[in-house]
Formats: sequence, C-alpha cells, structure tokens
Amino acid sequence: MIKKLGHELSINDYKLMYEYDIEDTEITTELLNDIYRKFNVNRPEDFRGHSLSVSDVIVIDDTENYFVDRMGFTKILIQNFNIISMEHIIKNVGIKKTCPLCGKTTHIAVNGDDYEKWQNGTLIQRAFPYMNAEEREVLITGLCYDCQAKVF
Ligand SMILES: [Zn+2]
Repeated sequence: MIKKLGHELSINDYKLMYEYDIEDTEITTELLNDIYRKFNVNRPEDFRGHSLSVSDVIVIDDTENYFVDRMGFTKILIQNFNIISMEHIIKNVGIKKTCPLCGKTTHIAVNGDDYEKWQNGTLIQRAFPYMNAEEREVLITGLCYDCQAKVF
C-alpha cells in the first residue's frame, strides 16, 4: 500500500478492464504513450471502460506495471497485491496554445516533469533551459511565431 495523490492506493481496488497481446519486447515510453492513445483516442470497439487516465494501472507482465500519472507514467512493482516500489518515467506532453492576436493554434511538446516544475513556480528559463525565447513566449502568452515576428 502506498500513498499517492493524497490517498491510499491498493492493487485490490483495481479491476481488469481489458487485456491484449503486445508485440514489443521492450517497454519504452513510446509504447506506453501508444497504449495511452489506444485507450483515449482509438479505443477498441469491445472496450467498455473509461478513458485511460490518472491512477489507472497498466500491467505488462508480472514485473512490469505502470501507474498512469498526471505527467507521465510511474513504473510500479507489485508483490502479493501490494505496490512495493515506484519509479517515475518521463513523458512528453503536448501543449496547445491559441494566439491571442490571430487565433492560430501552436502545438509545442515539452518534457512533462519540466512542465510541472514551471507550473509549480520555477522560472521558465530554469524549467526549460533548452528552449529558445520564441518557444517560451508561446508557452507564456500563446503568441504564435508569426505574430511574435510582427510584434517584437
Ligand atoms: Zn498569431
């Protein structure tokens, strides 16, 4: 039993909603993102559950289990129905911004952990040191690259 998102989580609270075979032998962030998309965007016709979301668990095999987090996935180890270890896996999140001047939408992919840091008050240049000023401007104001070129 572990504490997560402010409440107790026990694998006993979980119910198997869907089962299918995967061809991948290696579990990558891409594979997890694919699974996430499968149960949010391209849901199988015979799937009767809700969209895959925070606090759901993806069970790959006896040793590979993933907890769906607010920003990514956390690898969890389950023994005797108790979660005994957790390891956070970084996921890129897609941010959609609407330009306040022209209404155009800009999509930007950011590291989920860095995004969370920024949301929690870290200065944007510290949270995303690898981004250029234009990309940061999109995140802050939504101004698209074209309008930024006109305004600044
Ligand atoms: Zn614009």
